[in-house]
Amino acid sequence: MTRAGIVTVVGKPNAGKSTLLNRIVGEKLSITSPKPQSTRDRIVGIRTADDAQMVLLDTPGLLEPRYALQEAMRGIALEALRDADVVAYLVDATDGDPPPLMDAARLDAPPRAPTVLVLNKIDALDTAALDGLRARHPDAAFVSATRGDGVDELLVKLRAYLPESPFLYPEDEISTQTLRFFASELVRETALEQLEEEVPYSVACEVEEFREDRSPVYIRAVLYVERESQKRILIGAKGARIREIGRVARGKIEALIGAPAYLDLWIKVLSNWRRDPRSLRRFGFVI
Ligand code: GDP
Ligand code: MG
Repeated sequence: MTRAGIVTVVGKPNAGKSTLLNRIVGEKLSITSPKPQSTRDRIVGIRTADDAQMVLLDTPGLLEPRYALQEAMRGIALEALRDADVVAYLVDATDGDPPPLMDAARLDAPPRAPTVLVLNKIDALDTAALDGLRARHPDAAFVSATRGDGVDELLVKLRAYLPESPFLYPEDEISTQTLRFFASELVRETALEQLEEEVPYSVACEVEEFREDRSPVYIRAVLYVERESQKRILIGAKGARIREIGRVARGKIEALIGAPAYLDLWIKVLSNWRRDPRSLRRFGFVI
């Protein structure tokens, strides 16, 4: 009998959720960045190996509700918790002993599903610190998401909690999300990489047209910012920055789809979209 179920990865921003998810799925599905809060959507990766299928939910992090965007993010994370067969509670081991998930996530009750504590970034710990953590958290999984250490052991632990079930998705399917969605994430990721500190969280991307029937594949994408000043920053001197974003993003999209692409990239101002429920819904936030 095969096993199949939902593994929800939760943790604070920067704990390494996206890095771990990418390693487990083996494809670049989710965004990683040194800046917190770059994963704003619930991204589904699927790992099918031997007789087990894990449907992985990345969560946007459980954050203080400060304004509409973060409320939306918390809502998405809580929904992914409810859907889980097993929860992987990922923490940065360099922060020391982690608080219980219930406290960290400010939950009223523990998640229904069993929780596996995952201490990440063990590559950045000295032996004494690591030994101490191992002694105090004997049931935890110890991993380095960037190097891959401990990930096989983690997968064994997670697999044990998956219910006996036929596979939920075709074996070769790595994701239920569309290429269109990933294309928009890659454009946004590229813009983020090339921008100064403040602007990134004001950037959303929408792919307006994705034509696989053309060669090269035609993609029209719009980067939305909140202010004219941000638009000017994105465009750069004589359009140099937007051209560079387009060039790099196109390369990533071509690697993803395995075909030449033409990226028609635009920038538009949508005032205060982060505080506007309609705009948030439009960019895929559940609010
Ligand atoms: P997320 O916000 O939880 O999705 O975290 P990311 O996956 O985006 O990672 C945040 C930062 O931590 C990035 O700079 C990663 O390179 C870094 N990081 C993730 N995993 C590890 C790890 O195992 N070791 C070290 N040293 N850094 C890591
Ligand atoms: Mg992330």
